Amino acid sequence: MAQHRYVLPESAIPTQWYNVMADLPSPPPPPLDPGTGQPVGPDALTPIFPMALIGQEVSGDRWIPVPDPVREVYAMWRPTPLHRALGLERALGTSCRIFYKYEGVSPAGSHKPNTSVPQAYYNREEGVRRLTTETGAGQWGSSLSFACQIFGMECKVYMVRVSYDSKPYRRVMMETWGGTCVASPSTETAAGRAILEANPDSPGSLGIAISEAVEEAASREDTNYSLGSVLNHVLLHQTVVGQEAKQQLEMAGAFPDVVVGCVGGGSNFAGLAFPFLADKAAGRDIRIVAAEPAACPTLTRGHYGYDFGDTAGMTPLLAMHTLGHGFVPPAIHSGGLRYHGMAPLVSHLVHLGLVEPRAYTQTECFREAVRFAGAEGIIPAPEPSHAIRAVVDEVERAKEEGVERTILFNLCGHGHLDLAAYHAYLTGEMTDLELDQSELDRAAAELADLPALA
Ligand SMILES: *Cc1c(COP(=O)(O)O)cnc(C)c1O
Repeated sequence: MAQHRYVLPESAIPTQWYNVMADLPSPPPPPLDPGTGQPVGPDALTPIFPMALIGQEVSGDRWIPVPDPVREVYAMWRPTPLHRALGLERALGTSCRIFYKYEGVSPAGSHKPNTSVPQAYYNREEGVRRLTTETGAGQWGSSLSFACQIFGMECKVYMVRVSYDSKPYRRVMMETWGGTCVASPSTETAAGRAILEANPDSPGSLGIAISEAVEEAASREDTNYSLGSVLNHVLLHQTVVGQEAKQQLEMAGAFPDVVVGCVGGGSNFAGLAFPFLADKAAGRDIRIVAAEPAACPTLTRGHYGYDFGDTAGMTPLLAMHTLGHGFVPPAIHSGGLRYHGMAPLVSHLVHLGLVEPRAYTQTECFREAVRFAGAEGIIPAPEPSHAIRAVVDEVERAKEEGVERTILFNLCGHGHLDLAAYHAYLTGEMTDLELDQSELDRAAAELADLPALA
């Protein structure tokens, strides 16, 4: 009988995170202080981040040790299984081999606890008792609430207003794990009050919620801020995914020709792909594909330049592909992929031509998610359905070229709390939104006032 799942013992949980910075042909452009236009020093970040994470953010070391207490918490669900997608291969009638790493087995149901746990840990080690953060659909807010609960800390989550109203169950998860969740924009911060004054019915956005969470962390001595994607240290923590996948592929006697992930801020993609970029840097022939929504096409249609990470312009300027910090993404069902920017590391790799970006509409992604659920049993979160869509593209491409390939992708979460989106798809109510060129022109105008990339 062919093997469906490759499972590792607890002892195989990685003891180090892999830092891709050590293997890049050139370093990414540094974050800038918006006031001076000069690179930000660590001092600028100490009001909201612990030193350990600031150190990881700028580190050039190839390997960074995973603290034992973090590894112990990881062992609650890690190592996660690697599946051979035998059912999907059959459904597609392909002789390509398809593997997926399944991160939906974590307590929160996605890859996000891989970073929320070390972030809570390092903050507590440095005496911080409270963390603030933002959340879109609620995946990150629930993951950080879980991690704070484990380490005996308070967690305050600013949740984008539309999701707060339409997706109550993630909020209940946060509260079950002891977190506090408020709708953003809120009256609790100056940033939130300013937005509400201008527009009392504001639906909120990830950018606005980040402004609120950062403001609260910067103004309270006992409180730090925590981000669930985009930054170097977040991508670093996710590399346990790719390192485990490598060991599991070895058990299967396989190595990927193509590695695929979906991208919102870039962290689950990086977690799977970066450990394989080390092989690519060493000369191995391997393609790396990043799949994003056509309605929020940061990598495929955005500008590569300096932009703020939030709406109010409180963060340092990051060199990234961006749709402009004023961009309010259309209400697509992949909440986790609705961010105006992209991880600077992922943007840099796309700029260097080492990562290929692709964009897909939500209905074509849900079509593949439903086929996948039928073939593999697991109901994917809407976000990784973009990765599945890209895998099907790769299978078709291999067929045209008359070759058999080994394809690996990250199934970064399950869709049990996204069934309303499946309902919309199954009843034919889901529509596709093309992003208007005028939106992209507006973004370009917004960036014209900010420093340009050298
Ligand atoms: C948050 C989230 C994403 C998007 O974030 P990345 O940093 O791009 O990984 C994708 N999938 C799921 C399931 C998420 O929860």
